[in-house]
Amino acid sequence: MRKDLPYPHPTSAAVTTVMKANRRADTRPELVVRSLLHRRGLRFRKDLVIEVADTRPRVDIVFPKHRVAVFIDGCFWHQCPEHGHRPRVNLGYWDKKLTRTVERDARTTAALQEAGWDVLRIWEHVPPEEAAYLIEAAIAERSSLNR
Ligand SMILES: [Zn+2]
Repeated sequence: MRKDLPYPHPTSAAVTTVMKANRRADTRPELVVRSLLHRRGLRFRKDLVIEVADTRPRVDIVFPKHRVAVFIDGCFWHQCPEHGHRPRVNLGYWDKKLTRTVERDARTTAALQEAGWDVLRIWEHVPPEEAAYLIEAAIAERSSLNR
């Protein structure tokens, strides 16, 4: 947030929460998570296509050496339990489309795991700091296993 811009001072915790949520919607969560990881000294590939079994998923954040694959899943498209509502308009269309996405996610996760990957699916609503922490923990665990 730029300090030189006029900014309405939040009057309560609730207002702050809403404003934070709005700000988050303007910044793609995976970009924020990536820059946090970078700052922690973690090196990774982004938007990498991994060929496993008969699928070729594009993975948001990949640590090839540790075989850790991270997806930052959008709440709507991947139907998070908290925000994954189904639109009322064209219900049939959306139902089919969203159900297909969720099923494909499950197949992708299973295929990667069978190929020895540790798969993290993190909802976009998870605070980026927490997401970065989860990813770092997964890397640390993999590192200790490989020792
Ligand atoms: Zn959500």
